[in-house]
Amino acid sequence: MKKALVVANWKMNPATPREAKQLFNLVKKGIKNAYPERSRRVEVVICPPFVYLPVLKANGAQDCFWEEKGAFTGEISPLMLKDLGVKYVIIGHSERRRNLNETDAMINKKLKAALKVGLRPILCVSSKKRGEAARKEMEAQLKRALVRIKKSEIKNIIITYEPIWAISTTKGSVVATPKNTREGGIFIRKNLTKLFNKNTAKKVKIIYGGSVDSKSIQGFIKDAQMDGVLVGAASLKAKEFIAAVKKLAQIRKI
Ligand code: PEP
Repeated sequence: MKKALVVANWKMNPATPREAKQLFNLVKKGIKNAYPERSRRVEVVICPPFVYLPVLKANGAQDCFWEEKGAFTGEISPLMLKDLGVKYVIIGHSERRRNLNETDAMINKKLKAALKVGLRPILCVSSKKRGEAARKEMEAQLKRALVRIKKSEIKNIIITYEPIWAISTTKGSVVATPKNTREGGIFIRKNLTKLFNKNTAKKVKIIYGGSVDSKSIQGFIKDAQMDGVLVGAASLKAKEFIAAVKKLAQIRKI
């Protein structure tokens, strides 16, 4: 059985290092104490803003650039993240696509650069739309983002199904049902089969990103059969986030 992944995307929060340390320590302690046995089946990745990484020694980051070093003002290289002990990096989040015009070509370069240094990318594919229009958009994203990614590399990429209409900060957002989510997951795996092959596609972790909390998490894993979740808003509330991890740990067979 694949280990379930819970990715906390703190986005540009909290406001101070003191709050970041407090949140990180609470979450760390809460998870360790809650289900020490079962939580071995659950891997928690915390992605704080870059500036908190050296202090927290967190295992995740929210983005990276595609070059190792050089004249790229404001950017952070995958190698720099690796040196800080980071293992996972989110790439192509819908907020970066929207606010910074991040393209699939840029995302493709970031994926390759992250893989090169041994980071595990968490690639987000997303759409504001529903139905066929959403499927078309996500299919194109996958195709372009995964250009010249090898079979041996795709297994190290985690794919997040991120319906923008379900993200908590989207105006008028609605909670996705496990059925919606399951269809999204199946659709992504079908596309991976087309791009690689069935056997390779089976090995890729596909997680769900869209307003997950302690009440909904079991449905997204048990019913929607996702391999994990990416949590935004709820990951900033220690109690809620720990409760969600506990709920997930309960359903993973030992
Ligand atoms: C996200 O932005 O991908 C996300 C999952 O956020 P939230 O949990 O706040 O909906």
